[in-house]
Amino acid sequence: MPSDQSPKGAAPRRTTARAASVTTPAPAATVAPASSGLAGSSPWAYAPAPESREIVTIRQRYGLFIDGKERAPSGGEVTITYNPATEEPLAEIAKGTPADADRAIEAADRAYRKVWSKLHPRERAKYLYRISRILQERSREFAVTETMDSGKPIRESRDVDVPLAAAHFWYYAGWADKLEYAVPGRRPEAHGVVGQVIPWNFPLLMLAWKIAPALAAGNTVVLKPASTTPLTALLFADVCRQAELPDGVVNIVTGPGSTGMSIVTDPRVAKVAFTGSTSVGVTIAKGIAGQGKGLTLELGGKAANIVFEDAALDQAVEGVVNGIFFNQGEVCCAGSRLLVQESIADEFLARLRDRMSMLRIGDPMDKNTDIGAINSKAQMESIGELVASGVAEGAQIWQPACDLPTRGWFFRPTLFTNVAQSHRIAREEIFGPVLATITFRTVAEAIEKANNTAYGLSAGIWTEKGSRILQVASALKAGVVWANTFNRFDPTAPFGGYKESGYGREGGMQGLHAYLRSS
Ligand code: NDP
Repeated sequence: MPSDQSPKGAAPRRTTARAASVTTPAPAATVAPASSGLAGSSPWAYAPAPESREIVTIRQRYGLFIDGKERAPSGGEVTITYNPATEEPLAEIAKGTPADADRAIEAADRAYRKVWSKLHPRERAKYLYRISRILQERSREFAVTETMDSGKPIRESRDVDVPLAAAHFWYYAGWADKLEYAVPGRRPEAHGVVGQVIPWNFPLLMLAWKIAPALAAGNTVVLKPASTTPLTALLFADVCRQAELPDGVVNIVTGPGSTGMSIVTDPRVAKVAFTGSTSVGVTIAKGIAGQGKGLTLELGGKAANIVFEDAALDQAVEGVVNGIFFNQGEVCCAGSRLLVQESIADEFLARLRDRMSMLRIGDPMDKNTDIGAINSKAQMESIGELVASGVAEGAQIWQPACDLPTRGWFFRPTLFTNVAQSHRIAREEIFGPVLATITFRTVAEAIEKANNTAYGLSAGIWTEKGSRILQVASALKAGVVWANTFNRFDPTAPFGGYKESGYGREGGMQGLHAYLRSS
């Protein structure tokens, strides 16, 4: 959560209102006693504040969105999308095949040649503004659907994902008739059909990051959402119809990774954008190598959140909590490595444990919840396996003594200390609510340790000194560096990585460049 939307700092102990028995997915955890300097024996508890799910109608079955119409998959097969907080099936989703990808690309190609490329850019902008307005008007419906399908807290989908998605369409609408200012002295041209594959951690927001600049630049789109979170993309298809977007300009093909592969490798697709794991990013890069396509890859991360001894400690604690527990830590730019200066480490970790003891974990539809459900059973197992490796390799684990719901995939917020840089928990992307702490003594040591990673997506710096911010930020090999804040996103700001975090930028004018070829 952006720092102005961080969990309520003065909150008392987490609620146990919906909790039943405790499940402990992490092995050998040192679970803290239910004491905290701040919370103490406070009798306060939050009453449940559930958002109503009545506002959305989730249909029993969804088809593919091709050429402006809903279509059955050619193979006739479906998959099920589940609510990760309850493990209940939500809907049957069309399992798109390579033949469906082919139909979608054909529709996008036709729409590009016959309609979208012929429209005056001002007219294209009007559609983008219209989509943005509709997203705002239907924001509650989108937020509830996103939370039910992904497990993220309603407070985050309501205050972050949906407003930011609308803001992206609004921002890029402004660029549609000003493309020559984005590439001064050259003639901007669209690529044509773009293929986009998105992940499950920010389903609607990643769709907006990809579709808004693509359309503003004059391209048409075939997009594949992640199999565990297709619902907001399919709801977005309805927004396209409501906005009367010409048929074929946006096509949504649900289905497995292999269907995504047939989209991106098709010769009619001139530009590819992918967000997800580094391994699939590599597979895509290999799959399209030599085809002359444009490619942007936004992959994983292992960000250092660096706290210097002169930092405002409570503010830094909030930033560290925001950095790793926002969206259950299922964030590519999550501050998953805490680098804390040795002189303040004990004091800082004590405050951090207190703060973690106040986090409320549970029903994502409850407006008081800080940490919702892990997106899938597979992701839950992957987090558990990495946490177990941390224990086995000798790091010290600590988790607050909170109750977890008996159903659904929930993982306790986890703090590791005594972490060596060689440990897997310090090197690999966990993509869960797990923080690995490493100490340092000098500025040079902090920089060296922060850069000691295969990734390079983001980093955070906490210090009172402006000069230190400038010194450290310019030495960090990370695409985005936040100072005295974390996880701040803005449509006008470019976002992207170094090294195994991928290449290319999304957001801002730089994000537009990726969707233009200029002569
Ligand atoms: P993936 O990279 O497998 O999935 C991301 C998207 O790529 C999904 O739409 C997926 O489809 C699709 N996909 C999978 N295989 C292919 C392929 N061969 N060709 C084209 N598209 C493909 O991520 P996972 O869901 O497996 O998550 C694993 C790990 O990846 C996480 O633990 C995390 O570390 C990292 N990750 C990073 C993200 C980021 O934002 N950088 C986002 C998500 C995950 P489908 O859903 O149908 O498999």
